[in-house]
Amino acid sequence: MKKLLAASAAAVLAGCTVTSGPDMGTRVTAGSPVVKITPLGSHDGEFCPFDRALVFEDPDGTRILYDPGRTVRGPDDPRLGRIDAVLLSHVHGDHLGDLIQPSANAGACPKPDFSVNVTPNSNFVNISMGKNAPMIVGGEMHTFFQAKVRALNGDPNKLVRLLRFGAQTMVGKVMVASVPAVHANGVPPAFLPKAQADALAAAGLTAYVGPPGGFVLRFSNGLTAYLSGDTGITAEQDLVVRGHYKANMVVMNIGGFPFTTGPDEAAYVVNDMVRPNSVIASHANEPATVNGQLSPNSRTAAFRKAVVRAPVHVPLSGRTMEFDGGGRCIAGC
Ligand SMILES: [Zn+2]
Repeated sequence: MKKLLAASAAAVLAGCTVTSGPDMGTRVTAGSPVVKITPLGSHDGEFCPFDRALVFEDPDGTRILYDPGRTVRGPDDPRLGRIDAVLLSHVHGDHLGDLIQPSANAGACPKPDFSVNVTPNSNFVNISMGKNAPMIVGGEMHTFFQAKVRALNGDPNKLVRLLRFGAQTMVGKVMVASVPAVHANGVPPAFLPKAQADALAAAGLTAYVGPPGGFVLRFSNGLTAYLSGDTGITAEQDLVVRGHYKANMVVMNIGGFPFTTGPDEAAYVVNDMVRPNSVIASHANEPATVNGQLSPNSRTAAFRKAVVRAPVHVPLSGRTMEFDGGGRCIAGC
């Protein structure tokens, strides 16, 4: 309560109107531009095993979709609204999108119904083309996607934007930078034409498209978000993401064995390397919630406990969180 009063007093001093209630937390309703972040998961109000997709909305109205994966139900998913750019960390099926749900909330959170096959095009390409929103990709993924767009009679120059490590591009007033991720990035055969797919599958190989990546997004209110992608611990999280970009918010993969950082490693990245003011857990590979409540024995709960220097927010599908320029969630968390 003391904390809440102090926050309210600070906000009033800063010229904002603050309301609070038992379920709302503290809400700054005027005078401070916010970035809205909405998770698009498989089940409304929950955080489910394949949830990765987030929509970021800058105060200027720019809307950016990150890693649509399997849980965005194609370009006509009513949750998308207008989309100005689509970011992809890497080409694995749970990010590029090999399968999607036939309808909202299909299946159960622990085992969503992904019975609609969208290969070889991918959910990512279908959404980019359906929304006429450029893809932003690193490595050597651009030529792979340009070929897909060309085959679907789209304009590859307009729809595919290359962004390699160190470079940045603007989408509206949002700066998008590419940062390293340490992971794999082979195109699964299902996304390739049949003859190539069969040959590669028979040899147990994927197709090369360069390294995977993560992103840093700097919004017009100052919020600077690090999107880890799928990665292990890597020195750039300290030297580049914190040192250069000064990220004040993190979307962190916590999936663990055998693919990426688990709760302990992800907590180290947050506590000792990036040092943000808040965190959104991502890619938990588990049904982390039941009826919107975090399961106490979940990987996500272990991560939340291990992060000592910032609040960890659970991305409940469809629930919009609002962040100020300092990287703090001020509503919806
Ligand atoms: Zn993944």
